[in-house]
This record gives sequence, C-alpha cells and structure tokens, in this order.
Amino acid sequence: MQSEQRLANPVEQPVSGKFHRVLILGGTGEALQIADHLAGRPDLLVTSSLAGRVNESKKPSGLVRIGGFGGVDGLTAYLTSQRIQIVIDATHPYAAQMSHHAELACQQAQVPLIAFKRAAWTAQPQDRWLHAADFCDAASMIDNEQCRVFLSIGRQELSAFSRCDKAWFLIRAIEEPQVRLPQKSRVILSRGPFSLDEEKKILRREDITHVVTKNSGGAATYAKIQAARDLGIEVVMIARPAKGQTVALQQLHEVHCKLEELLDNLPFQSLNLAETVGP
Ligand code: NAP
Repeated sequence: MQSEQRLANPVEQPVSGKFHRVLILGGTGEALQIADHLAGRPDLLVTSSLAGRVNESKKPSGLVRIGGFGGVDGLTAYLTSQRIQIVIDATHPYAAQMSHHAELACQQAQVPLIAFKRAAWTAQPQDRWLHAADFCDAASMIDNEQCRVFLSIGRQELSAFSRCDKAWFLIRAIEEPQVRLPQKSRVILSRGPFSLDEEKKILRREDITHVVTKNSGGAATYAKIQAARDLGIEVVMIARPAKGQTVALQQLHEVHCKLEELLDNLPFQSLNLAETVGP
C-alpha cells in the first residue's frame, strides 16, 4: 500500500509552478538531512520515499511517500508518472535490492541517479573483529554453547539465526520481531542512539561474549562497537552487500554538489502539485 502526504508547511512549498522534481530514496539519517537541506527551495519539488517497515522517529521534510514501488517496473512507472528528473539513492548500506532497482529504473526512465553510501567502519587496533560474509555465515560462526550473543541487526534478517540452538542471544530491535527466534533468546525493544555507557552496561550485565552487527557505518550505532572494543569483546561484522554499479558518494556535500551540477542542465517543469502527487 502506497501513500503520499504533504508534510511541509504549505507556506514553504508552492502548490503549482515551475520546478525541478527530485526523488530521495530514504530510510537513513542522511536522507533526512538531504531532505532538510532542500526544504523550502522554491525551485524544487522533492519527495522522500520510505519503505515503511518501521515507524520512523522523524518524518522527512517535504513530500513523503511510503511503501514499495512494486519492483523495477513499478519504480520506472513512478518516475515517469511523477515526472521525476533526479533520483537520490540515500538508502541504508544493506538495502541492496532498492539500490539495484533504482539503478535499473533510472536507466529505463532515463533519469540521472545520485548514489550516496555512508563510509563503512574500519577496525581499530584494539578491535577484535571476525568477518562474516553474510547473515547465515554469522549465525554459523557463533552457534556454540559458550557464546552469549548481542544480536543488534534489526528485525529483517533475524531468521538467519532461527535455527541456532546452542548459543544464547540478547536480541535488540525497535519493534517486535515477527520471525521464529533462536531457541535460547530474549528480546529487548528500544530505539537508539545509545550512549557508550549504555552499551557497556548492557554488554557487562548480560555477560556478552560476541556482538553481531551489520557494518552500518556512521556515528548513530557506533557506540556498541566502541563498547565491545573497550571490553575486549569479539564483534562478528557482517559484510555489506553489493549495491550496484553506480559509484556511490560518501559525503553529503558531494551529493549536494552533484545535484546542483545536474540541476543546472535540466529544464524546469510546469507542475501542479495536486496533479503531480495526487492521492
Ligand atoms: P531492500 O532489501 O533493498 O528492499 C526491499 C524492498 O523494499 C524494495 O525492493 C522496495 O520494494 C522496498 N523498499 C526499500 N527501501 C525503500 C524505499 N526507500 N522506498 C520505497 N520502497 C523501498 O531493503 P530493506 O528490505 O528495506 O532492508 C534491507 C536491509 O537494509 C535490512 O538489513 C534493513 O535493516 C536495512 N535497512 C533498511 C532501511 C530502509 O529504509 N529500507 C533502513 C534502515 C536499514 P519494491 O520492490 O516494491 O519497490
């Protein structure tokens, strides 16, 4: 189910006129920052798209649509019907399918694509990282009686750990997991960011031997990595998936710069907001 809402102050965004039309594929803090940066510009009509799997703590500035597009064809049709002129892919580093779809749909609709991917964390001298190729690999690495695992990977890939029956798991998620959980596990529901002290406290209190995590990069979820380092705990770092061929920018100022460069060469479109974003 898709929906599109107009969340910005109506005074800040024009109802009809000549605009450049931009789509941000979001779900990350950086996507919010890009939408904030572009908010209130009279020359732009910007829509942020969210997968809608979790209740976001903050809604993006500008127009927002929620839910999948229906694959590559659905996204291609959306780009055409919404007269999107530039797509900014600022999805999470592990949202590989969305990025692949964006690449193909942009090719089909002949819309330029700007890809942003935040830099990965790299191991520091005191870190004790074990590298897992994917979620299943991580599950096979830690499933033994001695392991007390802090599983902090979100809800979606938890099923890779369903069949672990030897290790004990503390699973942290924002919302209740809907999949079969490992036999010996406890779930805590909470939303970050978490401080270093909070992360150390939880790792000590639960006598954690391994932290299993995605390499999300960025500061928001880094405290658990630092806490594990400080306490000498092993971290199973799950490798990032391939996101497609488009060279991804790693700095937001590069995204803004690239956007301006593309905008300079695009014609304005006469758009009527009601027609363009309709129900
Ligand atoms: P995905 O596997 O790349 O996408 C699966 C499908 O979800 C896409 O094909 C698309 O459906 C829809 N989708 C994803 N992002 C969308 C967006 N911004 N707007 C509209 N539709 C979107 O990504 P995922 O399943 O969401 O997540 C994969 C991994 O990324 C997980 O580890 C998850 O924790 C992490 N992650 C994702 C997000 C996010 O917002 N997507 C945020 C934080 C973390 P259609 O094919 O129907 O278009």
